[in-house]
Amino acid sequence: MSMKVRRRWFDEGAAALRDFADLRPGQVEVPDGSWYCCPCCCWAFGPDALDSRELTIEHVPADSVGGRGTLLTCRSCNNKAGEQLDVYAANRENLIQFLDTKATSKRYRVVMDADGIPLRGSAWFENGTLRIQGVDKQNHPLVRDQHIAKLNEFVDSETTSPPLTFKVRVEKISDARANLSWIRSAYLVAFCAFGLPYIINPIMAELRDCLDKPGTCTTPIRIARDADAPKGRRVLALMKDPVESIVVGLDAYNVLLPSPKNMMRLSALAKVIDDHTREDGLRMLGQTIQWPRYPEYRYR
Ligand SMILES: [Zn+2]
Repeated sequence: MSMKVRRRWFDEGAAALRDFADLRPGQVEVPDGSWYCCPCCCWAFGPDALDSRELTIEHVPADSVGGRGTLLTCRSCNNKAGEQLDVYAANRENLIQFLDTKATSKRYRVVMDADGIPLRGSAWFENGTLRIQGVDKQNHPLVRDQHIAKLNEFVDSETTSPPLTFKVRVEKISDARANLSWIRSAYLVAFCAFGLPYIINPIMAELRDCLDKPGTCTTPIRIARDADAPKGRRVLALMKDPVESIVVGLDAYNVLLPSPKNMMRLSALAKVIDDHTREDGLRMLGQTIQWPRYPEYRYR
């Protein structure tokens, strides 16, 4: 992303912050000059933060799951999300692909066990076929030969259920943190569409707390995965029924957030949705609006 784009996003963000403060005299004070508010920590940065790279390009969804540069956040928030949330989102997507027998760029570490004789190696799918490759350095040559002899025995015996298992080693898996990565992206989409009044509403501070301290988050935020949704799906919808809210659809994930016109607490929103789901299944009605490709501050 060029410096020109960064500069434009900074200037537009600074103008939006100025507008926002002007509408709330005495409530929000912004010192003279240009200031950009990081939508994640709500800290204000001056124009030199662009040159010092204190303000960074943020990807939506996360870079690690194929997002695109969409807005500016501060380096600290961006890095923290990468380490504490986005790595989990990427690991989960890779694992889902692998379990779906789809090709992944990642190879998984596995232990194959043929009737008690192990072979360590890596596994991946290629054209729907599972490939497992032993890794020389990880296997004693004698054990490896015994393992291969066992496999040949299975083939010769023509058994349909040989005592053959394999264990996949999966690193850093947390559904809660992976979900928060997508929720964070949905929050940033809402910021790009609706601007500062949306995120500076006290209701959203609760969500930011969760993003900031993912280990202690107990706020219910509704997110659903639609396995059939195509990769690259982007939907922003204003829902009317059963509750005024917004749905942000990113790839397979749908995140429910408060509507800018009806800032309900996340727990209250979750309760309405849960009650409806329990009673007659969840059917939501609303209309889609244009997906923000950069911060538009449509709602000042
Ligand atoms: Zn920040």
